[in-house]
Amino acid sequence: MTRQRQILLDLIDKSGKHLDAENLYQLARAQDSKLNRVTVYRTLKLLKLEGLVDELDLLHHEGDQHYYETRMKREHAHVVCLRCGKIEEFFGEPLAEMRAQVQKTFGFELVVVRAEMGGYCPNCQMLREQEMREAAAQ
Ligand SMILES: [Zn+2]
Ligand SMILES: [Zn+2]
Repeated sequence: MTRQRQILLDLIDKSGKHLDAENLYQLARAQDSKLNRVTVYRTLKLLKLEGLVDELDLLHHEGDQHYYETRMKREHAHVVCLRCGKIEEFFGEPLAEMRAQVQKTFGFELVVVRAEMGGYCPNCQMLREQEMREAAAQ
């Protein structure tokens, strides 16, 4: 495994966050100043093709960025706040049940299960209510 692959895999694996290609490029460069953007983007593509990382769009809540996370992690659903971009990960039995049901219903052998849900986090619900009250008062 080449050095840039190892750097990127480690960053994706250890961040615990959902980083986009530009974030990863900046972090990788801090470790190896010789890395350039093209190499980083190309390496991400390869890691994805090899099934080591997943590419997510997370409902495109910040525009058209894509985010990367390791495949080593247990399957989970992403819950995205459409206002502040907060991301929660839902690890739960229902996801495994859904996988089993889909396989049974359609006779598919699933290799990837991805679920994304969008809405407003508790804090943004409060802010939205406040905004609506203010708008109504005007
Ligand atoms: Zn929010
Ligand atoms: Zn995730």
